Amino acid sequence: MNVDLHTIRAVALDLDGVVWRGEERLPGVPQFFTFLNQRGIPYVFLTNNSTRTPAEYVPKIGRYAIPVHDHQVINSGIVTAEAMVKNYPSGTPIYVVGSESLAAMLRARGYLIDPDNAQVVVVGLDTQMTYEKLTIAGRRILAGAAFIGTNADATFPVPGGLTPGAGSLIAAVQTMTGHKPLIMGKPQPTMFEIALERLGALPERTLMIGDRLDTDILGAAGVSMKTALVLTGISHREDIPRAQAHPDLVTENLETLMTQWAL
Ligand SMILES: [Mg+2]
Repeated sequence: MNVDLHTIRAVALDLDGVVWRGEERLPGVPQFFTFLNQRGIPYVFLTNNSTRTPAEYVPKIGRYAIPVHDHQVINSGIVTAEAMVKNYPSGTPIYVVGSESLAAMLRARGYLIDPDNAQVVVVGLDTQMTYEKLTIAGRRILAGAAFIGTNADATFPVPGGLTPGAGSLIAAVQTMTGHKPLIMGKPQPTMFEIALERLGALPERTLMIGDRLDTDILGAAGVSMKTALVLTGISHREDIPRAQAHPDLVTENLETLMTQWAL
């Protein structure tokens, strides 16, 4: 273990594979959050899924009896919106390939959805993807619009198997245009930087808890956060030697992490 848990003052967690898996509640939920609240340790959730707004996540997280507010949920859609605000003024015409919730997050920042004049094209997971949407997105990028991808995940798990993730749709636009997108979700640093801002914590005093070495652990290590891999999701113990970034701590689940922390 390369981290002294008693130095940790804030926590960031992934959701799928950490808190739940499909509809299944994972061990330590919700007790781990009671533990954090009793110690006054703030937490945020980081997810690459851009198909819901943070407000839409609150009832879903609440179903697991975890106390949570909108501002504690940071997804790739919100990160995209916050990053765009730094670079493009309100009123900038944009085009969005993605869910209605993603478009709503961007409209809420004052951006206008305008397929004919878009200066920025945002591509996220879109279960209603069409050839026409790909054509509009590609043409605007070829005409000079900036190209932003919410997250690069190749696949998206649903009960029954995998479906194409945002990364697969982004790849289609990238292939058409020959332009590389700016990617917002994990493992890119932007989401982690926004998490640290919201937590008001130093990276080396913040623990990122995730189930994926290539996104949660790699991205958090890149901004000098401490990292814990839980084995309730995608990555296994055997994957660690080959990983680009090694977690500071490996634990079965949130329950075992809480036990180690309480020692
Ligand atoms: Mg996960």
